Amino acid sequence: MAARLAKFPFVRTLEDFDFTAQPALDPKHLRELALCRWVGNGDGVLLLGPPGVGKTHLAVALGRAAIHQGYSVLFTTATALVAGLAKAHGEGRLEDRLTHWAKPKLLIIDELGYLPFEPSAAHLFFHLVSRRYERGSLMITSNRSVGEWDQVFGDPVVATAILDRLLHHSQVLTIRGESYRLREKRRSGLLKPAPVSSTE
Ligand code: ADP
Ligand code: MG
Repeated sequence: MAARLAKFPFVRTLEDFDFTAQPALDPKHLRELALCRWVGNGDGVLLLGPPGVGKTHLAVALGRAAIHQGYSVLFTTATALVAGLAKAHGEGRLEDRLTHWAKPKLLIIDELGYLPFEPSAAHLFFHLVSRRYERGSLMITSNRSVGEWDQVFGDPVVATAILDRLLHHSQVLTIRGESYRLREKRRSGLLKPAPVSSTE
């Protein structure tokens, strides 16, 4: 029930995650994160990496773990979050919306950086991060490295202010490697093998 209310896009758990496909990640570290002490402390987690490497899978798995520990959790995408804030702003209901997103103990914001923000959207996002700062946890997934967030937010000053708050009490997990979906397709022969990169 609580998992349904959190609005996860799919059901995934840590047990479903194939760590052999993802050597950049330490399963022990993920199991430790699944104990959710960081949620209790109001700390954050950033999951960074290219598309298809399991960022959303892990965010959902950790979100479910947080629910099992009794924490309130909400899942949204960066695009939906910002569109909702902009709409509320236009209708004079920004405070209500910020309160809505500030309430859960853990807010998961998926897919930051797929679309760049309008300057006004970057400001609204900053409002939300400030509102949650040192009160509740944020878990953010992004296909952009932190160094590219200037471009995502379209404004280096806002990007710095957001990162300053986000990174202060956060762990950053960087996932590398090939998309899991493509890897599976390749294995089943639906795609050509990946080109072997040569350094000679
Ligand atoms: P991302 O959010 O990084 O783009 P997803 O988490 O959506 O990637 O992963 C794409 C699909 O591949 C999902 O169905 C996910 O469950 C699966 N997947 C990705 N990585 C793994 C993995 N290491 N083990 C098992 N399934 C995986
Ligand atoms: Mg994803």
